[in-house]
Amino acid sequence: MRVIFLGPPGAGKGTQAHFLCNFLQIPHVSTGDRLRQEVQAETELGKQVKEIMAAGLFPADELIIALVKKALLETKEAKGFLLDGFPRTVAQAEALKDASIDIDHVIELEVADEVIIQRLSGRRVHLSSGRIYHVTLNPPKVADIDDMTGEALVHREDDKEAVIRKRLEVYHDKTKPLVHWYQRLASTNKIPVFSKISGEGAVEIVRQRLVQIFAK
Ligand code: AMP
Repeated sequence: MRVIFLGPPGAGKGTQAHFLCNFLQIPHVSTGDRLRQEVQAETELGKQVKEIMAAGLFPADELIIALVKKALLETKEAKGFLLDGFPRTVAQAEALKDASIDIDHVIELEVADEVIIQRLSGRRVHLSSGRIYHVTLNPPKVADIDDMTGEALVHREDDKEAVIRKRLEVYHDKTKPLVHWYQRLASTNKIPVFSKISGEGAVEIVRQRLVQIFAK
């Protein structure tokens, strides 16, 4: 099963991806997680994208497409993958299609902008695993500490309010058109199946909506 998660930053893609990958037994490919690991390790790519990410903007499509192609090679033996945070532009979706990487299912998680601002400003992440917490909605056992490893959690630069607003603007401008792009593809080809669910409400409720998609 090859799945794409679409939705604004803070829609819960990362949180639900961890669950869905476990449920479908497929690897999780998050471009955001991989880019943050590059930044943390201070690689050439990391140095190139650090400021751009901190400002809530997108690095060049070519850089991201190369990163994803490399990541997908690592999933060759698996029964598919879940792409979280990719594609984010029509050019990225076209690159996938041109590489004949067929997608079975595109799932859009819909969340209102005001809900996102509240969610993201309280979000804390464990960088090496991608585990996600929220200071009030899903707090770790000990404040600012990852439950599993005891390592420090991070408040991402791009989760500060002014940057969140910029990221939402970029989402509506560059990524939202992908919804129509995939809906059109779904209506002309047999795949991908396109599903839209609300990403609002408790994590567990959203999880049940996701499971229902695959129970059909
Ligand atoms: P995320 O963790 O998915 O919210 O991604 C964090 C940041 O990484 C984004 O705001 C972008 O700066 C960058 N990023 C991640 N995935 C992509 C992508 N597919 N295209 C462009 N930029 C991306």
